[in-house]
Amino acid sequence: MQLLPDTHVNARMKYLFVTLFIVLPPLVAIAEPRPIEVHQVLAVPGTADDSVAALTLDACDGAFDADLIRFLIDNRIAATIFATKKWLNHNPAAVSLLTAHSDLFDIENHGANHVPAVIGRNREVYGIRGEWDVAHLKREVTRGAEAVNAATGFPPQWYRGATGEYDPEAIRVIEAMGYKVAGFSVNADDGATLSRRRIVARLRRVKNGDIIIAHLNRPDSDTAEGLIEGLKLLRDRRFRFVKLNDAQVVPAPKRDR
Ligand SMILES: [Zn+2]
Repeated sequence: MQLLPDTHVNARMKYLFVTLFIVLPPLVAIAEPRPIEVHQVLAVPGTADDSVAALTLDACDGAFDADLIRFLIDNRIAATIFATKKWLNHNPAAVSLLTAHSDLFDIENHGANHVPAVIGRNREVYGIRGEWDVAHLKREVTRGAEAVNAATGFPPQWYRGATGEYDPEAIRVIEAMGYKVAGFSVNADDGATLSRRRIVARLRRVKNGDIIIAHLNRPDSDTAEGLIEGLKLLRDRRFRFVKLNDAQVVPAPKRDR
């Protein structure tokens, strides 16, 4: 066997290093923080006879699912609504209905323009462009809070960013502004994209202490049908529904994440 001369090996090593130096910088440049989904539950004693869950409904943009809200009112099921400024501005009749039932519904902050809480140029979540910088994130949160305050007469306590995904830095910024970040433990409708049957299947798995997320801004979706059927099943299992402001919210145990 003939060994390669040193010069040949050196030439190959040099080629390898040059290749690495050309390839690596772009890889480093795209190594951005991965957004995280915040998973939380209610801190409640786990008894089969007295199960508690929280229903949270996002109003991102678009319209108002009147069938769903009518069902909640008729059945005295409480919910925490996360509304954007643009949804509040476009749905004054819905805002009147929700605020007329403030014993059942709290309206909290979903931002001004439904911009995800990820920071940096060209960042996006599910195809929705994030914030350029921290100043833009703060403006999204502040203007959303002002809109909620104007609509309800109460300053919001909670913030849920568009898509429910956050950079760790964004969470620190939002909390430093005095807001609690609202997570969830059961995604009931995947952004109002699931069929009635799949929404019911997800609600069947709800456990004592779960926080459910769904949407009230897509009346053309299956969300209202699925939620109404699934919530009836939970009510038959003697679940009570509480607003986030009436509960203690804690990080979900690791097995639930
Ligand atoms: Zn949303």
